[in-house]
Order: sequence, then structure tokens, then C-alpha cells
Amino acid sequence: MIALHEDRRNELISRGRRGEKEKGDGKNRYEKRVNSHVASTVKEFNQIDMESLFKYSILTVNVPVQGETDNYLVRIKFGGFLDELHNQIRQIGKFELRTVVKALTNSFDRDDVYISCSCPDWKYRMGFWASMSKITSSAPENRPSKITNPHNALGPGCKHVMLVLSNNKWVMKVASTIFNYVNYMEKNRKQQYADIIYPAIYDKKYIEPVQLSIDDKDTLDNDTELIDTANIQGRTRGQFKPGNPYRYQRKPGPGIGQIPIQGEE
Ligand SMILES: [Zn+2]
Repeated sequence: MIALHEDRRNELISRGRRGEKEKGDGKNRYEKRVNSHVASTVKEFNQIDMESLFKYSILTVNVPVQGETDNYLVRIKFGGFLDELHNQIRQIGKFELRTVVKALTNSFDRDDVYISCSCPDWKYRMGFWASMSKITSSAPENRPSKITNPHNALGPGCKHVMLVLSNNKWVMKVASTIFNYVNYMEKNRKQQYADIIYPAIYDKKYIEPVQLSIDDKDTLDNDTELIDTANIQGRTRGQFKPGNPYRYQRKPGPGIGQIPIQGEE
């Protein structure tokens, strides 16, 4: 079977590059992406569907974007994460932050990417066409954009989507959040870790005995508070420990004692 790969990240970006230019400023949405900013701290990436990630290998994440007029959420969705993670663990030998970074980067580049944004441009111009071609990561938009975008000539995404597609830094933040989450679950939700997360990561059964807990469940919680807690613990992990190489990298001046550890902040 021949796969067309029309919805790969690179293809979406190049379609954005060919998008029709606006009459006013002569720029298309891809060119206008640079006026917005992707969230830059790990704690802002607390909307990740962990159940979907560890059970079905699909990353669904809301990426906060500060636009020119308002703040929006770009929702990115792609599969293939666990297969890439298994490859990385086979090569590196263990589960660590860089294995998550690599697995995420590879699956983002190699798998079909589903996109959407909370902005009006997406709602009135791109959402309908994205729903038609089944590349939307949100609920389908069934109202045709007959007047606003009649020929689907503006590219696949608004400027926020184009920004997130062409930017890799947020992937590091998502990787840190996932890494912090796994560490938190290993310590605090042992049953869920042993039943769901460990087998998903290592592609084998967890064989150590597990102390059964009262809140034993066969699903993962997708609440942002748990992810926030995991990120806070992840940020302090490794700090102030004897022999921690990062504590010697402090520079004088403001922010002393708040050095980001391995890009976790
Ligand atoms: Zn948008």
C-alpha cells in the first residue's frame, strides 16, 4: 500500500508556505507566525492526555500561544510515540529525559499530525477544511467557510498553528512534563505505574511486587493538578543534592538558586 504522507509535519509547513498572501500586508499565515510566541516554561504544558499517550501511543497536547491580540491554545496530536521510545531505550539503554525528547521529536516528524487552534481565524477559515480532510485535532467544524475561505487557499493552519508546527522548543517542554509525570507516578501511584506506564515504556511486564493501594485504577488521571505537582517535584529533583553537577553552574546575580535543571523549567 502506498502512503501519501500528506499530513506530515513537513508537508503541512510547506502547504502553509504556499498559502495565499493577505492583501493588506502582503504576507501569508506562515510568514505572520513570527509575531506570536509559544509558551516557554514547562509548567504551562500541563494539558497532556496521559491516558491516550501511555495506552494508545498518541500524544494530544494543548500548546499555549501568545498571539498579537490574545492568548490561544493550539492542539497538536500525533501517534507513534511509544514505538519511537522503545527504539530510543534500546539504543540508549534506559528511560531518561533525552530518550523522551528523541522519541517525541521523531514521532512529531514521522507521523501524521493533527492540528487545531482556539482562535477565530481557525474557527472561521481553517476548521471546516481541516475537518473535511480529517486533520483536525478538535471537534469537527461542519459549517462551510464559503465566504471567508472559499477555495481553501490560505494554507492548512492559522499563524499560531504554523508557529507551533515550525517550532521545536515546545517539544522539549512536553518531554520534561512527561518525564516528570513518569517519575511522579513511579513514586506515588505505584499500581498505575506498574500496570500501565512501565509496560508502555519498556514494552514488557513489570515484575517487581507492587503494594496494592486503595486508589487502584486501570486508567490514568488526566487532571492538570497532578501534572502540575509532578512538574514541581521534577523541578526540585536533583537540586541541592551532593554531587549534583548542576549546582556548580550557578551564576551570580538575580535568580540564584533557580537554575533550570535539564531544561525542566
Ligand atoms: Zn490560531
